[in-house]
Amino acid sequence: MKIKIGLLYGGKSAEHKVSMQTALAVTKALDYEKFEIHPIYISVDGEWIKGPQLNSPAENVGALEFSTSAHSLGSPGFSPALLNAEEERLDVIFPLLHGPNGEDGTVQGMLELLNLPYVGNGVLASAAGMDKVIMKNIFAQAGLAQVDYVSFIRSEWEKQQETSYQQVETKLGYPCFVKPANLGSSVGISKCTNRAELEEAFKEAFQFDRKIIVEQGVTAREIEIGVLGNDEAECSVAGEIVPKKAFYDYKAKYEDGDTGLIIPADISKSQYEELKELAEKAYKALDCSGLVRADFFLTAKGEFLINEVNTMPGFTPFSMFPLMWKHTGVEYPQLIERLVNLAIERHEEKQ
Ligand code: ATP
Ligand code: MG
Ligand code: MG
Ligand code: MG
Repeated sequence: MKIKIGLLYGGKSAEHKVSMQTALAVTKALDYEKFEIHPIYISVDGEWIKGPQLNSPAENVGALEFSTSAHSLGSPGFSPALLNAEEERLDVIFPLLHGPNGEDGTVQGMLELLNLPYVGNGVLASAAGMDKVIMKNIFAQAGLAQVDYVSFIRSEWEKQQETSYQQVETKLGYPCFVKPANLGSSVGISKCTNRAELEEAFKEAFQFDRKIIVEQGVTAREIEIGVLGNDEAECSVAGEIVPKKAFYDYKAKYEDGDTGLIIPADISKSQYEELKELAEKAYKALDCSGLVRADFFLTAKGEFLINEVNTMPGFTPFSMFPLMWKHTGVEYPQLIERLVNLAIERHEEKQ
């Protein structure tokens, strides 16, 4: 019997396009002898549209963005009937969604209520990992070293802008990074080296979120590592990002394609061991399951500072996470199968 897998992709998020690329890659890589593939597209407006079942890798190209009118359920929003209709209950869901409304625990909570196994992190880890402020607070509590940071809520900032900027300048100074609290793919992030840039950066970041984080800017190498597993986690080889610009921004990630990814990263054996330990500590601190990509800064002094974990990292075959696993000996199709198995295992443990 084939495993009926539901691919959730698109999504009401600034990372919609990235998710589309991932979905295309995953439908190409899945083994059609083992899996029956059911695409479920979420439009930018948040409408859930079930597409036709895919029967071969060739069918998927161009078929992923369904015409809203053709398959629409009539009303925007979500209908659980899409996922657990009596006649066609899916065995496992792979949420290929990044950012809010996908990677943040909302979809995970819905899947819990439907009692459906799903790939990746649970509600708590997804929600905590999506919010950079909460995540950093948890890392601080776990004793993980990281850059200094402060956070702001839009309504407070509107009332006391000058005080907010002064707080950044006294606590952190320049350069600093301003980020929406709940996003990814560098959307809404700016590097600031003076007051004028800081003011612009606040405005920009607040367009994406009611909460922002400001971090001290570091000059450091960017080292990442993949973690895979449930209670017992395994680490991939490390990778290094070499941004060709001021920082690793959205354009560099998804449009230019000329950012250097060095895999394995050129670090010593003892540095790698330390990195692994820190990544596992972060994984446990957030109670992760399935997978994360843990992002670190390696300072000139040789200290690892954790930047973040991504509970649903970029997942095209050219993304860092799959590439690090490829170099560790797990090819893309196997990686997908491992994740599906981890999802089913976790589900069975809970029953
Ligand atoms: P993704 O989820 O795609 O990794 P993100 O939107 O969560 O991205 P970050 O990883 O936090 O954003 O930051 C994006 C990039 O900005 C980093 O890869 C790095 O190049 C730069 N950057 C972020 N924070 C800092 C910092 N405090 N100091 C120096 N550089 C930073
Ligand atoms: Mg991130
Ligand atoms: Mg992300
Ligand atoms: Mg990152």
